[in-house]
Parts: sequence; C-alpha cells; structure tokens
Amino acid sequence: MALLPWQSAIVEQVLPESPGTNRYFLRLPDTQAFDFVPGQFITVDLPIHEQRNKRWRSYSIASAPSGTNTIELLIVRAEPSEGGSAYIWEHWKPGTVVPMRGPQGTFTVPSLLPEESLFLICTGTGVAPFRSMLQHWHQSGTFPQQPIYLIFGGRRREDLLYESELRGLADQYPQFRYLPTLSREAWDGAMGYVHAVYEPYCSQCPSAQFMICGWRTMVDETKHRLEALGYDRKQIHLELYG
Ligand SMILES: Cc1cc2nc3c(=O)[nH]c(=O)nc-3n(C[C@H](O)[C@H](O)[C@H](O)COP(=O)(O)OP(=O)(O)OC[C@H]3O[C@@H](n4cnc5c(N)ncnc54)[C@H](O)[C@@H]3O)c2cc1C
Repeated sequence: MALLPWQSAIVEQVLPESPGTNRYFLRLPDTQAFDFVPGQFITVDLPIHEQRNKRWRSYSIASAPSGTNTIELLIVRAEPSEGGSAYIWEHWKPGTVVPMRGPQGTFTVPSLLPEESLFLICTGTGVAPFRSMLQHWHQSGTFPQQPIYLIFGGRRREDLLYESELRGLADQYPQFRYLPTLSREAWDGAMGYVHAVYEPYCSQCPSAQFMICGWRTMVDETKHRLEALGYDRKQIHLELYG
C-alpha cells in the first residue's frame, strides 16, 4: 500500500498520565476529520538525526475516531536520554508543529465469532491501541457481547495508565474484565508479570483471539506461551513497539 503523504500536526495539549508518561493531543489543521481504525498508529519525523528514516518514530493512536481532526498519543520517556521520546518530552509543547503521516498499520480488532473471547495483553504504553478500541466501542454503542479481557502490566501503582477510565468501563460492561498487574509493588491487585494473569483465563477459553502490544520481551514471551497452550498463530495478533 502506498504511504500517505506527510502533513503538519500541531500539539494542542500535553497532560501527564504517570511520572514517565504523557498524553499528547495533536490537531491536524489540513484535515477535517482524521479517519482511522482503532489500533492504527501514526509516524512522526523528529529532528534528531540527519538521515530521514532514523528520525521517524511511530506512536499508536490512543483516542477513538471522533470525526474531528484531533488525536491523542500516549508516550513514555524511554532511555537513552538522547532518543526520540526524550526529544518529544523536551520539545513538544502547545503550539509545536510536528510533521506526521498516517494512519498506518493493521493491528485492528479481528472479527470475533459469537463464542470467541478477546484477550488484549499489554505493558505500559502498549495499552494505547486497546484504549482506542475500548473507547470506540463505548462511544459508538458497539461494545462486543463476547468476554473481553484487558491484561495490563506495569511496575508500580503509579504506572497504571488510564486506570480510572478503564475501571469505569469494566463497571459499565460486565463482559469486560480489566486485569492490571504490578511487577514491583505490593498492592491489593494481581502481582507479577502479565502471563500469570491471562493463563488461568485461557484454560476456560479454548476459542479466543489474542492481541498483544508492547516491547519485544513481553510480546515474544506471550506469543510463545500461547502457542505452547495450543493456540493457532492465526489467533495471535502482535504489535511490536521495539
Ligand atoms: C507501531 C508502533 C507503535 C508504537 N506506539 C508507541 C506508543 O503508543 N507509545 C510509546 O511510548 N511508544 C510507542 N512506540 C515506540 C516508539 O516508536 C519509540 O520506539 C519509542 O518512543 C522509543 O524511541 P526512542 O527514540 O526514545 O528510543 P530508541 O533509541 O529508539 O530506543 C532505545 C532502546 O530502548 C528500547 N525501549 C525504548 N523504550 C522502552 C520501554 N519503555 N520499555 C522497554 N524497552 C524500551 C527500544 O526497543 C530500543 O532498544 C511504537 C512503536 C511502533 C513500531
């Protein structure tokens, strides 16, 4: 598929979501309604390298399609400190103009059979595409009837991104289970990595689709574990951040 042309986006608002993660609201002045499918991402061009393709960084769209020209990104400040995300943290303020293109990507919700459960498995900002999907279903009145499990892995309590919003959705939709787990802080919820959380539910769900999003270690291990549990590759959908 041909790549979409570059266009300018303007940073409208920056909101902290956790100590290491910000929400960025971008407006696309040359577009009336930015059309995308939940799960897709955009690519931004950052002035951090002379070589063009070394300046590009991709970010999942965290908001639902709204018929407007504003989208939300959820960006964690990663190490090393001279990387693209560090640049964003230092330089993206309200009014900053950002070259971007998109939407791109095929990490979108597979069609579900009536008896199929959907597992959304992520760590950190890997929740962004899932937040877009959940908000889209909620806002458009199309929340699926099938069981949906969102398994979110973070280190500490403060890393739980969009926590109150996700708990609110779980209260409203009984078929939706929000299952956060923390690896480095004791609390009254699940502890450890995501695997110990989804595996007990899998045994009750032979018919399921899995969407996994985040950094390589978690994505690879989840995929291998699901294959070892007997799931077919076609049931496993991945978005690898790096
Ligand atoms: C399709 C797609 C969608 C993406 N969506 C998002 C998004 O919504 N939000 C977001 O924050 N990032 C997202 N990313 C990652 C993003 O594109 C950058 O890779 C990220 O911001 C780090 O870039 P950097 O230049 O700061 O660091 P780099 O110099 O590119 O990375 C440094 C190294 O650290 C690793 N790394 C970076 N951050 C982490 C982390 N938090 N945990 C573990 N390892 C890490 C990288 O894999 C790399 O090896 C996405 C990537 C892809 C491909």
